[in-house]
Amino acid sequence: MSSSPFESVDCVVIGAGVVGLAVARALALAGREVIVLEAADGIGTETSSRNSEVIHAGIYYPKGSLMARTCVAGRRALYAYCDAHGVPYRNCGKLIAATNEAEREKLAEIKGRAEANGVEGMRLLSAAEAIALEPNLHCVAALMSTSTGIIDSHGYMLALQGDAEAQGAMLAFHSPVVRGCVVEDGVELEVGGAEPMTLRCRLVVNCAGLHAPALAHKIGGMPSEKIPPAYFAKGNYFSLAGRSPFSRLIYPVPVPGGLGVHITVDMGGQARFGPDVEWIDGIDYSVDPQRADKFYAAVRKYWPDLKDGAIQPGYAGIRPKIVPPGAPAQDFVIQGPAEHGVPGLIHLFGIESPGLTSSLALAEEVRAVAGNA
Ligand SMILES: Cc1cc2nc3c(=O)[nH]c(=O)nc-3n(C[C@H](O)[C@H](O)[C@H](O)COP(=O)(O)OP(=O)(O)OC[C@H]3O[C@@H](n4cnc5c(N)ncnc54)[C@H](O)[C@@H]3O)c2cc1C
Repeated sequence: MSSSPFESVDCVVIGAGVVGLAVARALALAGREVIVLEAADGIGTETSSRNSEVIHAGIYYPKGSLMARTCVAGRRALYAYCDAHGVPYRNCGKLIAATNEAEREKLAEIKGRAEANGVEGMRLLSAAEAIALEPNLHCVAALMSTSTGIIDSHGYMLALQGDAEAQGAMLAFHSPVVRGCVVEDGVELEVGGAEPMTLRCRLVVNCAGLHAPALAHKIGGMPSEKIPPAYFAKGNYFSLAGRSPFSRLIYPVPVPGGLGVHITVDMGGQARFGPDVEWIDGIDYSVDPQRADKFYAAVRKYWPDLKDGAIQPGYAGIRPKIVPPGAPAQDFVIQGPAEHGVPGLIHLFGIESPGLTSSLALAEEVRAVAGNA
């Protein structure tokens, strides 16, 4: 058996991305013993460090969906958390730019959906009003979201880690969960890495992001028909040399599969374009420079002054999709014993955008499920 000091443990969270860290913090704050098992050598090395770092308002998601609820609640909680913990952020706002009449009609629909979700601070702008705010913008109308912002996502994850550890949680890096098995009083996990061990856990929360469905299949006793399929939709980014021409985030009207190629800025002031949507079969973070042509075309619709040669391949992130291309949009899935019938096991599936924004609220949802797990 194990040479580990913790052969038996109350809760294990698998994955130290932003969601796993938020869940670990919430469980630790609720007084539970928590170990976070992370395959990599540090926190947030996968999707949590490969995103747009936008604090989303909660605009696009269907009313009542887990995405809508956790984005709005998570965003409010996140701003308060950043204030309380000194995490750098900027509530810069965003404009959704309509560049033709068909898109103009969609703006009112988007505003209605946002307001149904409880998003505050949405305002339709004429072209003149939008251009007065952002002189480099080309549009026929725009929708302003004042509650959108940007965040230093790594600073946020460090704060979550610090909070969790202050409450007694332990993080174990280089600790990939290889397989598991449902046992009488919980779940037994086999952990690989430099110091292999077997852990018997009363509660396991699977926050393995892109790998969550594959990992669920490796837990003996977990009904496989309840595990959603995994699809990967890469989002490529290109970066802009020089200063951003905009002080707010600029988005087009959304496209199927993603929010469209938008312009964001990070807390260091670096402007970036993306992400686009590229369905892929396996994990591959390379950015094909050839995709620049499509970026120029997409961005010039709302920023015609973008010069040839101004953008370079940046980085890519991969959306953990659980529905195939062309299918209706997915919602976040938190699957506990009520859904799959296995006590002591909670899976998080399909935690794509706005998972960073929603993280604190998702953690609260998991804590509530854990109370009955
Ligand atoms: C292109 C893109 C842009 C996005 N932009 C935004 C945005 O602007 N705003 C926003 O709110 N959200 C955004 N998101 C969504 C957000 O980034 C994710 O929802 C969030 O990062 C998911 O965090 P996570 O902890 O679930 O997963 P991850 O960050 O992927 O963490 C999973 C962790 O599990 C570990 N792991 C996996 N398997 C095992 C195992 N067997 N054993 C141990 N550890 C394991 C991995 O090493 C990893 O550290 C974006 C996503 C993408 C792809």
